[in-house]
Amino acid sequence: MQVMNFARTLMAAAILLLQAGGAMAQGGQAAQARLIVGDSAISATRGELAVDIALSQPAPFRTRILAAPPRVVVDINTVDWGGATIPDQGNAVAAQRLGHLPDGWARLVLELNDPWLPATTEQRVDPDTGRARIALRLSRATDEEFDMGAQSEARFVARTHPALLHPDAAPPPPEAPRRPVVMLDPGHGGIDPGAERDGVRESDLVLQFARILREELLRRGVFDVAMTRDADVFVSLDGRIRAARAAGADLFVSLHADALPEGMASGTIVYLLGDEASDDSAAYLAERHDRADMLAGVDMTGNTDEIARVLMAVAWQDTAPRAQALAETLVDHVGEAGLRLHRRPVQSGAFTVLRAVDMPSVLIELGFMSNPRDMAQLQDPEWHAHMARVLADALEGWQEEDTTLQGLRRR
Ligand SMILES: [Zn+2]
Repeated sequence: MQVMNFARTLMAAAILLLQAGGAMAQGGQAAQARLIVGDSAISATRGELAVDIALSQPAPFRTRILAAPPRVVVDINTVDWGGATIPDQGNAVAAQRLGHLPDGWARLVLELNDPWLPATTEQRVDPDTGRARIALRLSRATDEEFDMGAQSEARFVARTHPALLHPDAAPPPPEAPRRPVVMLDPGHGGIDPGAERDGVRESDLVLQFARILREELLRRGVFDVAMTRDADVFVSLDGRIRAARAAGADLFVSLHADALPEGMASGTIVYLLGDEASDDSAAYLAERHDRADMLAGVDMTGNTDEIARVLMAVAWQDTAPRAQALAETLVDHVGEAGLRLHRRPVQSGAFTVLRAVDMPSVLIELGFMSNPRDMAQLQDPEWHAHMARVLADALEGWQEEDTTLQGLRRR
């Protein structure tokens, strides 16, 4: 029976996501939904507790239950509560709390007077107005049934959404933030040396540089740093994103110094995942079983390609401007320091390693081993130290600005 509740919840999420996908395709973008207070209500009869959340447009949602005390949690991505609460007709619930999670989801927690278990959850969209209604119908359960349901859900959540385990946990206080984690990704390694010139391997150069950049970043005490490899070993492209997830990375910086056959390219380039490339990320990840690597916090297993596409589009809307700002900040600092930039220093492409749509990711070509002047710099320890300082300055500057912007966005 507990499993049935899950199936119902997940199915409801699937229906609404398909609807949201349609709305997004028509509208071209998914602005934030607003709560329509007048059409929303919580009410109870002897046998049913009804929760209706009216929204200005459809939005992905998920629900679950928590025991001691019995609670129902509804997460919506994303909704502006507008400082309101949902009208409760006749004190149908003991308390309600509305807030926003650090990752952009909005959360409604209903503290229940009695053990009620979700019977049906759905979202319907009015085709004329484009407005949506999330409707939860809960039926009376015994305390034992509720606790069993909550335990079963907790196990499921622990396995699939570890980040969701503590729904009521307050975000960390602003005066003591966790240090953001930079994932440095020295390209190639092991059986894949990358570019090679005069017996020098790109995989060795970028590993040396990554270690210097790590030291520089750690010395400043702003970031924690992890690396996808710290030895001459092969790591798959997916494995690099998995490593970033495992480290709880906040941003991803891949380091390369490739050679181009024409030999004309020179100077530093920062690559981003292009919007088109992020679109076909959905197609790409559809072939993979470990889709969660592309988007943390949402269980992609068993979701259809369409749902995956919508979830990724929602995440990418937040991430794309942050990644763009990161690339521009990096390039500005490199240019201002008098280091050589490529004539088109910010470019986008469909790099597999940049496909985590919810984590700003860039690929830096430090220079090109195919260009003699770049090659000399890439082997110069002083140039390494200078470039590491400049990139660390840029990452620090971007982080500060990004934190401010994200704070503003959540208000
Ligand atoms: Zn490379």
